[in-house]
Amino acid sequence: MKIAKVVIEHPIASLDIPFDYLIPNHLAVNVGIRVEVEFNSQLLVGYVVNIVNDYKTQEQFEQEAGFTLKNIINVIDDSPILNKELQDLATKMAYETVSPLISCYQAMLPPSLKPTSAKKVGIKRVYCYKAIDFDNLDLLTLKQKTALLKFAKNKEYFKEDINISSSILKTLIEKGRITRFLKEVYRSPFSKEMEIISGPVITKEQDSVIKEIIKSADKTFLLQGITGSGKTEVYIELALFYLALGKNVLILVPEISLTPQMVQRFKSRLKYKIAVFHSGLSQGERYDEYRRIARKEVRVVIGARSAVFAPLENIGLIVIDEEHSESYKQDNVPTYNARDIALIRASTHNSKLILGSATPSLESKARASKGVYHQLYLSNRINDAVLPKCEIVDMMKELKKGNHDLFSSILKQEIIDAISRNEQVILLLNRRGYTPSVVCRSCGYVFKCPNCDVALKYHKDTNTLNCHYCNYEIHYPEKCPNCGSKYLRNVGFGTQKIEELLQKIIPNIKVIRMDLDSVKKEKGYQKILEDFENHKYDVLLGTQMIAKGLDFENVTLVGVLNADIGLFNGDFRANERVFQLLTQVAGRAGRGHKQGKAIIQTFNPDHFVIKLASNHDYEGFYLQEMEYRRKQKYPPYRYFALIMLMGNKIDVVEKFALNLKDYFINKNIKDLSVLGPSIPYIAKVYGKQRMRLIIKYKDKNSAIKLLNEVKKMAIESNKIGISIDVDPYSEI
Ligand code: ADP
Ligand code: ZN
Ligand code: ZN
Repeated sequence: MKIAKVVIEHPIASLDIPFDYLIPNHLAVNVGIRVEVEFNSQLLVGYVVNIVNDYKTQEQFEQEAGFTLKNIINVIDDSPILNKELQDLATKMAYETVSPLISCYQAMLPPSLKPTSAKKVGIKRVYCYKAIDFDNLDLLTLKQKTALLKFAKNKEYFKEDINISSSILKTLIEKGRITRFLKEVYRSPFSKEMEIISGPVITKEQDSVIKEIIKSADKTFLLQGITGSGKTEVYIELALFYLALGKNVLILVPEISLTPQMVQRFKSRLKYKIAVFHSGLSQGERYDEYRRIARKEVRVVIGARSAVFAPLENIGLIVIDEEHSESYKQDNVPTYNARDIALIRASTHNSKLILGSATPSLESKARASKGVYHQLYLSNRINDAVLPKCEIVDMMKELKKGNHDLFSSILKQEIIDAISRNEQVILLLNRRGYTPSVVCRSCGYVFKCPNCDVALKYHKDTNTLNCHYCNYEIHYPEKCPNCGSKYLRNVGFGTQKIEELLQKIIPNIKVIRMDLDSVKKEKGYQKILEDFENHKYDVLLGTQMIAKGLDFENVTLVGVLNADIGLFNGDFRANERVFQLLTQVAGRAGRGHKQGKAIIQTFNPDHFVIKLASNHDYEGFYLQEMEYRRKQKYPPYRYFALIMLMGNKIDVVEKFALNLKDYFINKNIKDLSVLGPSIPYIAKVYGKQRMRLIIKYKDKNSAIKLLNEVKKMAIESNKIGISIDVDPYSEI
């Protein structure tokens, strides 16, 4: 008797364990495939995680187990959709991130292969033609003969390859001269073949970094290179080296907006097949890219966060570009960080792992300082380009001068000057942690979500106020429910408003916006970047999306409209984020032969983050910020986990939280401390009351073990919902 252990997708967390099902003789069931099973009288899709041979008879088994075994009803996949490495990785990831196992499978697979979606994305097939009979050509008309002779022997053609009319094709098929059949094709978003070009002569600095990585016995490297120092070129050279050795290469980039430029650069240099992954792909495209990798048809994978799960084998090199980027951390379950997953995979494959950044995360930098990672530097810009000069503008003084605009007079003038020199400008509106909400001008009433206790967000297109947590929505209110005043005000600026403002103060200026809305609705990010690169616009205006990685030769001015946003939001990473953002965005200027300039507008010109960022002083920032983290026992001095508890009644939640706290403290683990319970910034979500505990610890192993136990306790309590975020990106 063979039993399959099946995990099923179920909203109830306590069911995140494998269940036993009998494998009927007529079904070919393997580990790693999806199956249909009956669960609580429902037909559900599950994932086979193990198969055991039980030498008992079914009756014996059932008698001992005390339940009746059910058959697997159907098999969905012919072959495993995750290989052994990834199956083991899922198990490890579930434990280390304290997340449901099923959610880890979900995260690893393209949407169409997720255990829950029994619906398959179809394989795309297109008609293909092949000539089979070239004899007795005089039996054909001249047109038919000419058409037939376009076919080479034994070669298959798509219709667009041969340029023959449908009617002639049809006749030739009827005459038995050619055959037509369906051929599987991929929906590849970057299928255009590119000409392979040779790269620039690498600089001495690049060369020594590359040699060091190849030669060293170390496996993990922190490549700290200032913006424009040629890090990407180093990745490409390393990729070429390991590909030539027969190894495969995985490149991770933070944002989808970075992918096209990066992909083009890799494509133009590597003669190997490349698969591309990012969230902008359609389901079909993702499925096809996944299949190409699984079938070993590609040697290189480039993509955002989830590409870290690409089923590549024999990996020789993993690169994490902009390793500090928060986009590597998934903020919903499973709350993994691609950087940690890459470390696990690199060790499994015994491959090199490169963490690259101009502004490394404090965690990575601290590890490099201790020698856990091998530290490497690129300290010069290519072509001896100098870093842009940064000018800090005190917006308080502007206000006192009577300028209430979002543009200081200096920035305004610099934009005008740059455009008159035929150069281009990037403007950043920092919107991190910022919500355009609606307040009453008379009494200050803020429109909030009744379920979630957060300010509602104004949506211009639908003229509604929406809650971004629970989707609660109301029409734009006519008056204040508190005082009846009709004068309501939208707080804050959106990029759209700034564009209007810019048009007003500098007539005829050509501005293109890049934010989530415009990328989704109007043009793709790729088109926006292309148009800007081709100088169809003077100004690229955007949110943090535009801060990283983009490389435009003609940009000589970067303006940061509101550098302060996010500086005082109470999160322990606030300083680090603002420093990274400012350094990154300033690095967009002056990458070509012209000197660049950055203008940073702020209400806090003396804040150390603003000052050090404008001096491009990473080391200075690192030292000062580490001092604060040490005093406050924040990462990287301690690990950090956030436990969120949810329930219908606040006193029940609180009691549970206090018990948990005691539980942790009674374990007496050295350097483990518990903060809270406290009511989080967002006190209610979906009508559930929330409380949180923060755990700080040094010994990762024992803490993770405890956290997994705690999760079980909450699940078994049956009244308390729990979510645990290990190494959360944000504290609030
Ligand atoms: P980073 O990734 O560190 O920001 P890039 O690799 O994008 O830097 O390099 C910045 C610019 O310099 C790019 O336009 C790149 O093509 C060019 N570049 C890189 N290395 C060299 C080199 N050795 N010689 C000439 N140009 C180079
Ligand atoms: Zn009011
Ligand atoms: Zn809500």
